[in-house]
Amino acid sequence: MGERLKMETVMGALLLAAAFLLATGGMKQAAAEVQGTGRTVVIDAGHGGDDPGKVGVGGTLEKDVNLAVAQKLADCLKKEGIRPVMTREDEKGLYRPEASNKKQDDMKNRCAKIDGEKPLFTVSIHQNSYTEEAVHGPQVFYYAHSKEAEELAGYIQDAMNEDLADRPREKKANDTYYLLKKTKSPTVIVECGFLSNREEEAKLVTEEYQQKVAESVCRGIMGYLKEAKNR
Ligand SMILES: [Zn+2]
Repeated sequence: MGERLKMETVMGALLLAAAFLLATGGMKQAAAEVQGTGRTVVIDAGHGGDDPGKVGVGGTLEKDVNLAVAQKLADCLKKEGIRPVMTREDEKGLYRPEASNKKQDDMKNRCAKIDGEKPLFTVSIHQNSYTEEAVHGPQVFYYAHSKEAEELAGYIQDAMNEDLADRPREKKANDTYYLLKKTKSPTVIVECGFLSNREEEAKLVTEEYQQKVAESVCRGIMGYLKEAKNR
């Protein structure tokens, strides 16, 4: 083989390799878009600062459990190739200290932050409470007028029923919660458990159970992205 011919063969092989890489890269990107990989999902840890949220029978503050679960959920989604954005990453709320109505200011700023990210959807982490101590288990709420949020809520509720509940609960529509109503993209609220139930409160403060909850929510989210979006 002459020098020139050898060079042409090498160049040809390089071109082929480049074309192959471009094609598979494009395919990977298309698959990633279908499955939501690389896209933004907002994780909202409810309450914070002056607003503790619900207070458990044993004195647990909802805001602390919310943040711990939200952080673990963000880590889990990152491993799945999602870009998680947290509305808060520390104990502080989102209100301005000088605001006359801190709760209202907090909710407004949360929504503005969420809308600014243009996420696929938002998962807001909360803990429940009820007057009857026996009531327990996870429950997912969605905005009544969003088909996408309803479907996402179904996937998360199913995963949590399987992984965490002794008795399955149903996802629930809502059209009064501020965050569900005011965000431009679909939003669901995940109530991980009841702080008014002594047993569930004791579990919810452990890192082990928080991790289990986060992984379950993550599994629901990925199920929705992989299956529902492919239809
Ligand atoms: Zn709450």
